[in-house]
Amino acid sequence: MPPATAAVTRGIDEPFELAEVRVDEPRSHEVLVQIIAVGMCHTDLSVRAGHTPFPLPAVLGHEGAGVVERVGHAVTRVAPGDPVVISFDSCGMCLPCETGRPVQCMHWAALNLLGGSRLDGSHTLTSAGADRDQPLHGCFFGQSSFSTLALATERSVVRVPTGTPLELLGPIGCGVQTGAGAVLNVLKPSPGSTVAVFGAGAVGLSAALAAQLTGATRIVVVDIVPSRLALARELGATDVVDARVDDAVGAIFELTGGAGAEYTLETSGVPRVLRQAVDALAVDGWCGVVGAPPIGSEASFDVPRMLDRNPHIVGINQGASVPRQFIPALIELHLQGRLPFERFVRTFPFASSGGNGR
Ligand SMILES: [Zn+2]
Ligand SMILES: [Zn+2]
Repeated sequence: MPPATAAVTRGIDEPFELAEVRVDEPRSHEVLVQIIAVGMCHTDLSVRAGHTPFPLPAVLGHEGAGVVERVGHAVTRVAPGDPVVISFDSCGMCLPCETGRPVQCMHWAALNLLGGSRLDGSHTLTSAGADRDQPLHGCFFGQSSFSTLALATERSVVRVPTGTPLELLGPIGCGVQTGAGAVLNVLKPSPGSTVAVFGAGAVGLSAALAAQLTGATRIVVVDIVPSRLALARELGATDVVDARVDDAVGAIFELTGGAGAEYTLETSGVPRVLRQAVDALAVDGWCGVVGAPPIGSEASFDVPRMLDRNPHIVGINQGASVPRQFIPALIELHLQGRLPFERFVRTFPFASSGGNGR
């Protein structure tokens, strides 16, 4: 079993701890990836905060980018030395997978979130430190890439062009694909429409960038952090709303001449913001729900208003993307300068995640 250094999460609210681990050898359809960069996503922090259940101790991390180190004997899509991005996992066998909807895989939760092991229960990670040989929970989003080596399935690994800056590509496997996919794969704004994005983190800004690739003519970004709103404007938002100062719903109705936004996207994970994203809709509009609040969270809606205005509310996981199709498209758009997500990526040395990674 190859040795690696991983950022281990031992308990709720405990800091990441850099530790030596051993990673299982790749099985027939698995790929061992030397991680060059990995994004830090809200979902990682949500697990550590105890808001999203995942068995601990574990190695989290689910926006890995790196170079293929070794492959299982049946792997055909990638070879050692290939640069890759790792996205979510799916089984490839169930009806949703077979009909091109891997985000709706019947084993999605077990493969990506709940299990902490392969579907057969076997562990992919073992501690190599003082608690030597203790199994660690892995397979987080099919990868557990807060580690110098990550084991993933062939299905979740996407080959990227040689020479693409891997340190930028980590977030493309989750955050960028989630925001851009919600707009390009699901909402699909019609020409002349308004898209209002609630939350200007990596997901929301990716959505705002993607909206500029559509016929939408008004792109509104709502947040409570002035620096994020300034960046949203620099990145092409036509309007920004500071929700600490202004009523976001009222501001969107004012911007749209009293009509509301045909499309809204909730990326903050705050239920009362979801309510605003629905209330800000135009008649027959679509609200995409992307932000994940703690498990069990509920939101409430004004029912008579729903009957009056016919909103559509749709949950969107991972941008409803097929990673092998969508991630290369996002990279090509990025290389053409049409999806400049590098503007909101900052890099930190892996070693710095040990003490203060919060
Ligand atoms: Zn499946
Ligand atoms: Zn994520």
